[in-house]
Amino acid sequence: MLKIENLHVSYGGIKALRGISLEVPDGKIVTLIGANGAGKSTTLRTISGLVKADSGSITYDGQELLGKPINKILEAGIAQSPEGRRVFANLTVLENLKIGAYLRKDKDGIEKDLKWVYELFPRLEERSWQLAGTLSGGEQQMLAVGRALMSRPKVLMMDEPSLGLAPLVVQGIFDIIRTINKEGVTVLLIEQNANMALKVADLAYVLETGTITKFGTGAELLADESIKEAYLGKS
Ligand code: ATP
Repeated sequence: MLKIENLHVSYGGIKALRGISLEVPDGKIVTLIGANGAGKSTTLRTISGLVKADSGSITYDGQELLGKPINKILEAGIAQSPEGRRVFANLTVLENLKIGAYLRKDKDGIEKDLKWVYELFPRLEERSWQLAGTLSGGEQQMLAVGRALMSRPKVLMMDEPSLGLAPLVVQGIFDIIRTINKEGVTVLLIEQNANMALKVADLAYVLETGTITKFGTGAELLADESIKEAYLGKS
């Protein structure tokens, strides 16, 4: 289990996370919803080791991750598919995917997982020699997820996978999240699209200005009147 306890993070004088605690049990899909600037990306970036915390603890299976370098966190089995589809534009799809496996030495395993990613995203296989920068937005998002999967993570953290995508493509991404999870990968998902996120999630946390204000099953929060009003709009 990935466990965050009393995590405080600030940027200069600005407090982004004010003592949040949350748990991501193995095999589950957990979502973190909240308005712009609530601290969702900061949470993921701190878990990944990209942002330093002021205090608190982040453990995976009891092992402290806070303060560890990025590659150690990846080695522990936690990978992030970043917001904004940060793929390497001047490299091919295949090269991007191989970068996802850069810490691994098991050649056979890497080949197997490349097949796995191509099964999940046949579009990537069709375009394996295409430069990533010329892919469509949805395809780049698939590549970002595929690249993260190439590290064979135990926990996949996804930052706004549906951002800027057409509704049909969004549905496809959420189907893939379910499939990946069924195949044994735990998912921690951040989404602006709270409606879709709560539908797919086993467990959900609401983050407001750096504080967790609500926790429940996805279904519970979907039915919660205050959540409906604040995050679900008319969708
Ligand atoms: P969004 O949905 O808009 O991406 P978020 O919930 O992911 O928002 P964060 O990106 O985690 O929010 O930001 C939390 C707060 O920290 C915001 O007030 C933001 O302006 C601030 N912040 C984030 N990154 C930095 C940074 N590198 N330097 C200074 N302040 C930052």
